[in-house]
Amino acid sequence: MPDVEISFLETNIPKLSRLSAELEQIEDSGIYSNYGPVNSKFENSLRTHIFGGNGHCLTVCNATIGLILALKYVTRHTNPADKPYIIMPSFTFAAAGHAVLWAGFTPLFVDVAPDSWSSSHEAEKELLRTYSSKTAAIFPYATFGNSIDLEHYSSLSDQYGIPVVVDAASSLGSLNFAGKAFGSGFPFPVVFSLHATKTMGVGEGGFIYSSDATTITQMRAMGNFGFEKPRHATIHGLNSKLPEVSALLGLEGLKTLNKIAIKKENIAANYQKLLPELQFQKPGGRRAAYQFMPARIPNADKTRRARLLDLMKESRIGTASYFSPHLAEQEYFSSFGSASHLPVTEALSSSIISLPVKHTMTTDDVAYVASELKRNMQRAFN
Ligand SMILES: *Cc1c(COP(=O)(O)O)cnc(C)c1O
Repeated sequence: MPDVEISFLETNIPKLSRLSAELEQIEDSGIYSNYGPVNSKFENSLRTHIFGGNGHCLTVCNATIGLILALKYVTRHTNPADKPYIIMPSFTFAAAGHAVLWAGFTPLFVDVAPDSWSSSHEAEKELLRTYSSKTAAIFPYATFGNSIDLEHYSSLSDQYGIPVVVDAASSLGSLNFAGKAFGSGFPFPVVFSLHATKTMGVGEGGFIYSSDATTITQMRAMGNFGFEKPRHATIHGLNSKLPEVSALLGLEGLKTLNKIAIKKENIAANYQKLLPELQFQKPGGRRAAYQFMPARIPNADKTRRARLLDLMKESRIGTASYFSPHLAEQEYFSSFGSASHLPVTEALSSSIISLPVKHTMTTDDVAYVASELKRNMQRAFN
């Protein structure tokens, strides 16, 4: 057995121990939360450094809470008894399904496109033909940090009068075809995660972008107990505020985000070159922010994929299979989600694997993972 061990994920979180002067400043200020000065600086840095000064950002304590907040905001005038559904992909992370349920709605699962692995535009239109009068929101996911076409969602929203929330949990560092940060200029909430496992992490955290100032101002009040007047709730509220120490980590992380995103982009390009036999996601923008490398194994099914993952473990390489099971296959969501036909999701989810894309990986590491994968595919399938 080779004397190598390549784990699946590695966190990229700034060293708190090196920020003692900044921590002392927080202690001296006596402000630990409540949209304090460090948080304001972080929101401003996101706005200027990531979104080129266009639009507005609101931090949240994690993206799951951010999704609940955003979904509740866009549906605040909608009665779930009249419009129970939120259209979303089943090929996503559990957090998105839970967010819909916490907001008081029912997921209506839509199939994904075979190339982008994001919600199929045709399948969305088909669902809307039947369910548009029962649909409270459209909730696409920028799958695996790959950009999706936001103009499509602007025009769907105009056509049907239905609001949108975008799950961009793994998209910080992603660039659209215009070379701008994914989400730039979009008026509806776009929710990003800063979890430890994402390209830029602070532990637990996230933020919501919108080009619309009022959307951010009102969601900011929602995130502070619904207080639009001092201690006077005027809108749905919860507590979604990011602590000052986490905002400090975010400010520090922004300094290296671009360098790390480029490094990961190169690792991903290397996998694509070394593994032409796999099917990769069709790019929806200039650069995806990679948490890991998703790839489809030809001729795989769940049994063969399981065998392959076991063999990769023997090779001492960490792999995973996001997103399998997909949401409609999970007991809790299947009891709510109304069944629509999901053939592409089924086939994709059964044949996908996730390979490590860590900023510390060397070219040799990537070559080793690729060669072990080739060898193990032969062993698993023959
Ligand atoms: C990570 C992730 C989330 C949740 O983000 P948290 O900040 O951990 O709450 C939601 N949706 C998707 C698709 C994710 O990858």
